[in-house]
Amino acid sequence: MQKTEGIATDAPKGGSTYGDFEIVDDQGDIELQTLFTGVCGTDRGMVAGHLQFAYNPKGQSNIILGHEALGKVIDPGSSTSLRKGDLVVPVVRRPGDCVNCRIGRQDNCSDGEKHEAGITGKNGFMRRTFYDSEEFLVKVPDLSMKDYAVLTEPTKNVMKALEVFGIVSKRSVFAAGDSTYRGKKCTVIGTGPEAFLYAMSFSDLGFTTHITNRHPVDDNRLKICEYFNLGFVDYSTDMGTFDQGIDVVVDTSGDPGTIFTFYRKLNNNGIMLLFGTNGKAQPTSVSGVDIDHMIERNLTILGTVDAAKIHYIQALEKLSQWGNLPNSPLKKLITSLYDPQDETVFTRRNPSEIKAVIRWD
Ligand code: NAP
Repeated sequence: MQKTEGIATDAPKGGSTYGDFEIVDDQGDIELQTLFTGVCGTDRGMVAGHLQFAYNPKGQSNIILGHEALGKVIDPGSSTSLRKGDLVVPVVRRPGDCVNCRIGRQDNCSDGEKHEAGITGKNGFMRRTFYDSEEFLVKVPDLSMKDYAVLTEPTKNVMKALEVFGIVSKRSVFAAGDSTYRGKKCTVIGTGPEAFLYAMSFSDLGFTTHITNRHPVDDNRLKICEYFNLGFVDYSTDMGTFDQGIDVVVDTSGDPGTIFTFYRKLNNNGIMLLFGTNGKAQPTSVSGVDIDHMIERNLTILGTVDAAKIHYIQALEKLSQWGNLPNSPLKKLITSLYDPQDETVFTRRNPSEIKAVIRWD
């Protein structure tokens, strides 16, 4: 059993406590120091007591928060591939015993028996130190990525979604006549970190890509859009931009009304990737015409969650590529750094925030 300083909540009741905690569920003999942990809506939802699916590790009265992390190897234990000082990203989902979990695809767990670090039944990474095993650690190939490799976890979700998009788009010829995606249009709903990571990825594939919200956005966001060749549209005043149709819509808002507004803009063979979750969003109505639209146009709507270890590796490659561009604004996706003791990170969100990160070293 180890004792470490960290931030815990009592799931699903909520609240947050900074202090010393005894950890009983770490598995593996690699000792790690946490450098950074990202804060996302799930952490805030858990602290607010809104996420009824969250639960403490078995027999424990609290759970250490945090699933987006960057760690440093203090002691590689029995690892043959990691050395002291290496940077690593821990995998969030830990497998159960279903057929998907047994092949390393706990992101597609078929019976719900997997655990998620910092969310469901396994302590997370918002703490000074943790132990893990090689199987669940992904080495950061490039030490210069220290300042932004904490974005690996949110980026790996996008890499998996691209895999799913690749499979689904094969139901017809989706690419342009020259085999690229030139001229194809992608719209990403939302202007948070995941929306940017999706939009940057689809733009890299050759899509003409827009990111959209129901209000204007700050200069930092506009500059990132400009650099990565993304258009920003405030759809509350300009829906006309989308009148020519969209080939791929990615939703990060979880808002059904907005989702169906953009669904109605999908071109033939169009694909809608649902990623955002918002159990508190207002309901919307869907008509027979909407169903006809889906059938007549061969539309696909799909949900995608989490990702596998391979997607963490792909995410690190992608982040390295973006981070090494000349004058890259990638680090500007991280808009605020917090001390672990500052619990306001869970309760306040500045409108200019894209990604908030807690610094542990
Ligand atoms: P986020 O920062 O909260 O981003 C959500 C974005 O949606 C914000 O920019 C928000 O804008 C925007 N939005 C909300 N309602 C909208 C509407 N009606 N029209 C347009 N935009 C709207 O969260 P994130 O970290 O980027 O993550 C995105 C979503 O994915 C969250 O719901 C998160 O819970 C979910 N998620 C899913 C997975 C998965 O595996 N599927 C994994 C991680 C996260 P405002 O801030 O202006 O409201």
